[in-house]
Amino acid sequence: MTIKLKFLGAARSVTGSRYSIESHSVKLLVDCGLYQERELRSRNWGPFPVPPHTLDALLLTHAHLDHCGLLPKLVREGFRGKVYCTTATSDIAEIMLLDSAKLQQEDAEFKRKRHEQEGKRDPFPEVPLYTVEDVEASLPLFSPVHYGESFQLGNGIKATLFDAGHVLGSAMIMLTVNEGGMERTILFSGDVGRWNAPMLRDPTLFAEADYVVVESTYGDRLHESFADISDRLAQEINLTLRAGGNIVVPSFALERAQEVLYYLNKLTMQRRIPQMKVFLDSPMAVSINKIFERHPELYDQEMTRLVHANKSPFDLPGLKVSYALDESKIISNLTSGAMIIAGSGMCTGGRIKHHLVTNISRPESTILFVGYQAVGTLGRQIVDGAKTVRILGQYYPVRARIAQIHGFSAHADRDELLRWLSGLKKAPKHVFVTHGESEVAESFGNFLRKKTGWDISIPDYLEEVELD
Ligand SMILES: [Zn+2]
Repeated sequence: MTIKLKFLGAARSVTGSRYSIESHSVKLLVDCGLYQERELRSRNWGPFPVPPHTLDALLLTHAHLDHCGLLPKLVREGFRGKVYCTTATSDIAEIMLLDSAKLQQEDAEFKRKRHEQEGKRDPFPEVPLYTVEDVEASLPLFSPVHYGESFQLGNGIKATLFDAGHVLGSAMIMLTVNEGGMERTILFSGDVGRWNAPMLRDPTLFAEADYVVVESTYGDRLHESFADISDRLAQEINLTLRAGGNIVVPSFALERAQEVLYYLNKLTMQRRIPQMKVFLDSPMAVSINKIFERHPELYDQEMTRLVHANKSPFDLPGLKVSYALDESKIISNLTSGAMIIAGSGMCTGGRIKHHLVTNISRPESTILFVGYQAVGTLGRQIVDGAKTVRILGQYYPVRARIAQIHGFSAHADRDELLRWLSGLKKAPKHVFVTHGESEVAESFGNFLRKKTGWDISIPDYLEEVELD
């Protein structure tokens, strides 16, 4: 038996997840992610390492853009197979991809105008990577499947999706390949979620697999516990309300915004915070809330209990959601007693910028960060203690309280990754550590080797291995 596995992304890096699998009869792609690291973004523009028309199917682990964000380009360049994923992933991917296309079209236009003014040229064309039309052409290919139900992908190869507990609808993928009377299983971790996380179920454990491809985003560190999040959130809110300011929360639209609402709901029910005005000023987060409400079968027990008590997990008494931009401007006039949740999560764009403008120079307000802030972003400058920041072309002194809650991660940490792998009762033939910065992947690989004695490697970009 020969199965070829090729690492087309997320190899010694954290974005651009793409793996191709080739058996004697079938050629598959697992994930088709966008590269988001600045120095790797040029890979988005190159031709696919595998000609798209030669692929029989694509399997998606989840709807984050670093796992599905290059699908419209794959389709534009000739892919015609089915896209298998859970229903929730397919629903969320539609929103994420349309938003991504819109942003790319806006960016391209902005770049074109700037280059015209400055007489500059860019190494990449001033056209969007893909358009809304490309996304619309991709949507009919989605073929949703249920967790735990295996489906045939061609002669001798089948797949099954299992709950990864990372974001709503996220999956781990088990491929079973049969050739010449031999059977091999290949397990893709996707992004591994966390145990006892709010809303979602725990990651699925597997008793056996011949080959494992495991992520390692946080393979070199340990997270704060979830119990601390409620305390910290209540503390920040009460402090700010007493001071007479607003709490401004930059948040990702998928999962983080819903998690914050979930905690607010719980804290309000427990009377640990007063009823207050909460604004979700993110049309995309509002759309994703609706997808959560459509999929109660994916909630964990605690979320199910909360929903029984409250109808919707996001049914906060003071919650207002806003779609239109002028509603967003009205919120900006509120001086006290409000929590404003808006995107983008790292303050690189979107409506959060307007709310920062009105609050960042007020000592009575709090800017509360609940997500990772990458180097080079406005969010990172603020958490790093910048005294003055530039927002929408103007400079503002930073006088608001700056706070950060770290425990919100949707990714397993080092010990949780080990916990997931420890489900395996027999040593796999080989473990491939991917989806982590080079040093982090190495560090996790060494840790795992020491703990298990297993055969482990950290593949390079475009490395191909033969599985026997
Ligand atoms: Zn993810």
